[in-house]
Amino acid sequence: MSRIELQGLSRRFGSVTAVDDVWLDVADGEFLVLLGPSGCGKSTLLRMIAGLLPPTAGRLRFGGVDITDTPPQQRDLAMVFQSYALYPHLSVARNIGFPLRARRWSRADIRAKVADVAAQLDLVELLDRKPRELSGGQRQRVALGRALVRDPGAFLMDEPLSNLDAKLRAGTRAEISRLHRKLGATTIYVTHDQVEAMTMATRIALLNEGRLEQVGTPEEVYDEPASVFVARFLGSPAMNLLDAAVRSDGGALIARASDVELDLGIEGELLEREVVVGVRPEHLRQVALEDADIRAVVTAVENLGNEEVAYCEVGASVIAVRGPRPLGLSSGARVGLAVRAEHLHLFDPGSGRRLS
Ligand code: ATP
Repeated sequence: MSRIELQGLSRRFGSVTAVDDVWLDVADGEFLVLLGPSGCGKSTLLRMIAGLLPPTAGRLRFGGVDITDTPPQQRDLAMVFQSYALYPHLSVARNIGFPLRARRWSRADIRAKVADVAAQLDLVELLDRKPRELSGGQRQRVALGRALVRDPGAFLMDEPLSNLDAKLRAGTRAEISRLHRKLGATTIYVTHDQVEAMTMATRIALLNEGRLEQVGTPEEVYDEPASVFVARFLGSPAMNLLDAAVRSDGGALIARASDVELDLGIEGELLEREVVVGVRPEHLRQVALEDADIRAVVTAVENLGNEEVAYCEVGASVIAVRGPRPLGLSSGARVGLAVRAEHLHLFDPGSGRRLS
């Protein structure tokens, strides 16, 4: 069993709290993605799990055993770094076999295991080369091979794709997902890239300023963001967020766009209070002006290839509308937009937490 339990892990650097009381239970075989903006504490959290950095508070369990004070080399975890961290003077074969030599495996056993891993990662032809004779994608595969060769209980990966160009990144992403499906090993993967998180994760843990904002499947965090932070972080363009006041009839008047009234169908405790209303760009539909919930003026249109994004002015706010190309909109046009109540997200303006 390779379950990883983070029990109130915290790390301070002087007056900076890089990781703040994180509780997280990563199930055996899960591919958990730690996602968040630069500086949110992702790497610090991963380094604590790897044993490279002691926590200032909290405990860590692996396979049911407390490993908080276990040295890194005695944790059954393999780490893959952004920088690959290969030995430049060693061949690919020796780089991959390095962890086994350190464990005093026999030469024959090492050769067999390296051949096996090289075949899995399509590295057989490259075994005699030095790292400098490899492309970035090949180097990353060697780094993966060095992690795989130990058959570790779990993998820890820190932005392993960030040095690759966009096309290689997509290919290597698929490769890592395939390996995970095949091996079924518990994996914790750090990234700031929402596409990597959405496509690879069984669950995403979103970090903001050292704290967990939300943990859920990609669908859960995208469809029901727990906070304004999560709503803004996932989705491109980001969710439209508008200040509004809920009226006593359950509808809402959008602030700074006083002619926008949305029928929210709200009842009970949310009546007559301030809210932030969120709607994703793909959930705004074009309708005839007389049927519109929102009347706007198009200020710019972006062509994404298969889709277009129109930026539209509503009072003092700008909202994005996304749909298949062509949207049939041009700058300066007046457009009517409608949104279904089930596609509206409501947040508390003070705390930023989701209300419904
Ligand atoms: P990035 O994606 O940019 O690597 P991150 O989410 O991984 O960011 P961390 O590297 O974990 O973030 O850093 C979290 C916070 O802790 C930052 O404010 C950073 O400046 C601080 N920090 C990290 N390591 C140290 C250190 N060794 N000494 C002092 N402060 C540190």
